[in-house]
Amino acid sequence: MSLAENLAQVQRAMPVPTRTTLLAVSKRVPADVLREAHALGLRHFGENYLQEALEKQAALRDLEPICWHFIGRVQRNKTGEIARSFDWVESVDRVLIAQRLNAARQGAASALNVLIEVAVSGEDSKGGCPPAALEVLADDIRKLPFLRLRGLMALVHPDPDQAQSNFAQMQTLFHTLLNTGKYPDLDTLSMGTSSDYIQALAHGATEIRLGTILFGSRHQESS
Ligand SMILES: *Cc1c(COP(=O)(O)O)cnc(C)c1O
Repeated sequence: MSLAENLAQVQRAMPVPTRTTLLAVSKRVPADVLREAHALGLRHFGENYLQEALEKQAALRDLEPICWHFIGRVQRNKTGEIARSFDWVESVDRVLIAQRLNAARQGAASALNVLIEVAVSGEDSKGGCPPAALEVLADDIRKLPFLRLRGLMALVHPDPDQAQSNFAQMQTLFHTLLNTGKYPDLDTLSMGTSSDYIQALAHGATEIRLGTILFGSRHQESS
């Protein structure tokens, strides 16, 4: 199926497409395909690898409006370039990274939107802040003037039953933070990928991050 058909299929599944952000996960997807996605109306792009992202951003400078989200593991020596090249960083999971992003964003026209990645899947290979440490990290980020805490992000367990309970836990954590009233910019719960976004939407996701279902398998790109 074409990108346009894939997109139409996903949009039919979104209850209120205008209020749900569809983040097109474009790692390993070439710039000309992103250009096509932008022409179809997609505005939010998620990248995992800094160097690859910078090359595509350079090739797509003329596209307006466009919003770049960093969703990969943040290495501490890359925080400067990430803070200057992206509108959002969704994978903040410790205070050191937040502080470095904040310092690098100083002097920019706008604050950097950040999400805290929460480790709810129980898989060590995936990053994230332990749920028990979430409020302390959120409080630390709240004090950083060049960051805007917008919400939470998670990658859930591949097993559907475990995913279900991970999504439910994320929804609870998000509402707990909202209910403190301490975070005025909190409006984003980013969860759900190609294999589980329907479930994620049912648990209150305000943003879904889709790669494969839009662009096809990253392993078969050259075929
Ligand atoms: C790659 C990736 C996705 C997209 O996964 P698909 O299964 O291709 O939809 C979403 N979120 C993160 C953090 C990713 O790294």
